[in-house]
Amino acid sequence: MDTLLHVEIESGQARALVAVTTETVQRAQQIHGLSHTAAAALGRALTGAAILGCLQKNAADRLTLTFRGDGPFSPVVCISDGEGSVKGCLENPGLELPLKPNGKLDVGGGVGRIGRLSVVRDMGLKEPYVGQTNLVSGEVAEDLALYLTVSEQTPSLVALGVRLEKGAVVSAGGVLVQPLPGCTEEVLEKLEALSPMLASVSDKARLFPNAYDLTEDIFRTVDHLVLEEQHPRYNCDCSRERIERALLSMGAEELTSLIREQHGAEVSCHFCNSRYQFTEEELRALLEKARG
Ligand SMILES: [Zn+2]
Repeated sequence: MDTLLHVEIESGQARALVAVTTETVQRAQQIHGLSHTAAAALGRALTGAAILGCLQKNAADRLTLTFRGDGPFSPVVCISDGEGSVKGCLENPGLELPLKPNGKLDVGGGVGRIGRLSVVRDMGLKEPYVGQTNLVSGEVAEDLALYLTVSEQTPSLVALGVRLEKGAVVSAGGVLVQPLPGCTEEVLEKLEALSPMLASVSDKARLFPNAYDLTEDIFRTVDHLVLEEQHPRYNCDCSRERIERALLSMGAEELTSLIREQHGAEVSCHFCNSRYQFTEEELRALLEKARG
């Protein structure tokens, strides 16, 4: 079971979220048949979405991250809620990219370095909150950090990592650190000094698969207290009703052509690959609704 911890730092001068998301990312790799680079890209994005999702006030609040760059995996879409449920998808999941000159997976090349990150927060109000920033590098963590710092005016350190061995995800995790109002210079400096350690979060998660041990290791130079524990997991909430609504939203013309040309439809969910079959008669009933 994956674990995410809410951590108070230096008596509330800052807060951190520490997540071990190995099983969540393994599930994503299984569902989508992810290449190494795609597993790193989607795994980082899923971990980021789980962390930001768990920061929301209400369990039902939904968060959607969309990385739309000029790379072959774009758009990378992840959706999470306040309870740790997260799901995601990307284009060309099986595509492998050459390693970067430093031997690392080229996540930035996969997502693309030119483009936008958009964040939609749906809190059940009439209008969802939508924010956007340019991508920094397509490496996911830096993009999220810039978004939080600039668009939401919450200075943030973000580290996200996925480690693969022989093609399989062996560890994944992420850390978010946010200084809070009243944070002293001294504590800020201590937090900034954590950056190099955060850079290797996936290796750390391999060493410390227990999120409590990981937290102890990362924050050993600052006072810290775990306040709350949550459990991220890959969870798709698709249903026949949702797929019907999606078909309806295609409009009468598209439905008519599905009926004429295919005499039925098989629709698969982008997030979990569940397949939903619709007979010609069922499509005709939907067409009636679409016209009604
Ligand atoms: Zn689904």
